[in-house]
Amino acid sequence: MNNEMIHLLVRKSRGNYINKLDNLVTGYEGEEDFARIVRQYLPHRSLFLTNFIFEQPSYAQIDGILLMSDRIHLYEVKNYDAHCSITGGKLYYNHRHINHNPIQQIDRATDYFRNILIQNKLNISLQPHLVLIHPFATLEQDESVQIPILLRNQLRHHFQMIDSSMHSHPRYDPTTIHDILNYYRINDWHNYFDQHPFNLSDLRAGVYCTNCGSFKMEKTAYYFKCQHCHTSISKKAALDYLIQECAALTPGEVIKTKDLLYLINRSLSSNWVYRILNQKLERVTYGTYVKPKLEPEFLNKLLELYYKREK
Ligand SMILES: [Zn+2]
Repeated sequence: MNNEMIHLLVRKSRGNYINKLDNLVTGYEGEEDFARIVRQYLPHRSLFLTNFIFEQPSYAQIDGILLMSDRIHLYEVKNYDAHCSITGGKLYYNHRHINHNPIQQIDRATDYFRNILIQNKLNISLQPHLVLIHPFATLEQDESVQIPILLRNQLRHHFQMIDSSMHSHPRYDPTTIHDILNYYRINDWHNYFDQHPFNLSDLRAGVYCTNCGSFKMEKTAYYFKCQHCHTSISKKAALDYLIQECAALTPGEVIKTKDLLYLINRSLSSNWVYRILNQKLERVTYGTYVKPKLEPEFLNKLLELYYKREK
């Protein structure tokens, strides 16, 4: 899960927009798109991992890892809707220089990843790739970069090739390597709370429609009904959503009831809210509860709302 993107999506739905969100969503779409293609052509006896974050010796992130019995493929995915060119080891985007050079990014992540293999005495070959996943991306390159670069329309061929070239005598079981990698996997290290500071009071409070984003919600005994698109949502579902929002908005391991009540803005009875919280979540101290995991369904709703509002 991309927690920084979810955090910024929640802020946007409550009227606090940060530019970086659009880049995060574009990158996320590219990674999801790539993962769908990989799963379609997944080579025999292989495992695919996404968004692998580790610290070895320093922080690195790899978008996709394909574990096979005789080698490991690493993929850095870029969703550039652009003409890309590589000259003198650097990648240009529509002839403009990119500050954050993806080639260096892959070289560095590959070096760090190799440290894990060495520490675990895994003698297996490592093949990094840069994937330009956007359907309209084009590429021209000189000889300066060794890393293979794959365009979207070359992916099927790529996976068929690596499937047919696999050794018949496996060296390693991909599940064993997967277990080793899981030991090194860490959570996102970006401190986006410091990078994009804000106060809850900057956000619009209240219950909004998860279908159209409107805050004009009419309250009945058990439901909220949107005055704009007429979608109904139960109070229970609305509170679940608010709890997820609160978890995404605030740093740390706990949610504070005062923050949740700020977002609720008196549209639900606080006694009822406390009762549900005590049923659903583990209480840490008075007024704090263990944060629930962010649900994929919550992310889907936020993204749908984001796309609707982009139109
Ligand atoms: Zn609505």
